[in-house]
Amino acid sequence: MSRFPWPEAIDIGPLTVLTGIERGKYPHGNSVLIKGTRDTILVDPSLTIAERGCPVDVDKVLLSHVHEDHIPGLTRLPDTPVYCHALDAQGLHSLDGLMEIYGMPAEIEANFRAEVVEDFYYAPRPDVKTFTGGDTFDLGDVTIEVIHTPGHTRGHSIFLVPEAKTVYLGDIELTGFGPYYGDAWSSLIDFEKSLELCRNIDAENFVTFHHKWVITGRADFINQLDNFEKVINDREEKMLDFLKKPRTLDDCVAHRFVYRPHVELAFADSVERRCAEQHLNRMIQDGRVQSAEHKRFVSI
Ligand SMILES: [Zn+2]
Repeated sequence: MSRFPWPEAIDIGPLTVLTGIERGKYPHGNSVLIKGTRDTILVDPSLTIAERGCPVDVDKVLLSHVHEDHIPGLTRLPDTPVYCHALDAQGLHSLDGLMEIYGMPAEIEANFRAEVVEDFYYAPRPDVKTFTGGDTFDLGDVTIEVIHTPGHTRGHSIFLVPEAKTVYLGDIELTGFGPYYGDAWSSLIDFEKSLELCRNIDAENFVTFHHKWVITGRADFINQLDNFEKVINDREEKMLDFLKKPRTLDDCVAHRFVYRPHVELAFADSVERRCAEQHLNRMIQDGRVQSAEHKRFVSI
């Protein structure tokens, strides 16, 4: 039994995982409560929080990053101070600022704007306060350390609670899908550096926003991190193979290296394009791919 009345809540010392519907499967997510002797902080108020409400009064909300599924619960906490990394703050300043983070083509963005407002309860929070890597929050006998882990977004951060030997990983989600770096605000190179940084975090429990949920023990975590990171290499190896024949960027987008061919998502092509560009740039830089005639690329 958790100290809070919440289905499938898990207490880990001063930290409680407020498990989301379907264990945090998108569009839901697993929010985290951290309770000190003075303050209680809620991390990443999910759509489940928006639907059920927060089970306890909170003093502050921290966000791992500003994406539509990490902020819906703010609708229940309009007067609670909210904090995110300075590099993602524009996503809470305005809907335009949020849309710039995704960088979708205009024809898709119109629908997504409506979805973010209607299904994810988006409302601007121009009062958002910012943190940066290395900042700490003192809750009274419990601290939260901010670790900046860009890549998924520029401001993506994870939160270490040493007193619970627990780190909340946000969207370093360890799923079989692999790392997501398909937004304008994403970076493949930064994501890889952030994954390396995660290896050295001194924790025993690892919490993700989506369905991996709670991982106990470093060995299991490192194993899952290895598998997650390997997806990046697999995508790149498949691209290299595909580029044995000269291909354009459009060919790479159509072939799909991130989503499976049968997946129908309005934004799939733009995500494929952004990811393929980043892999191509890296492989051109390190001499594995070169430009060919007619805007084509070929592996060497
Ligand atoms: Zn995200």
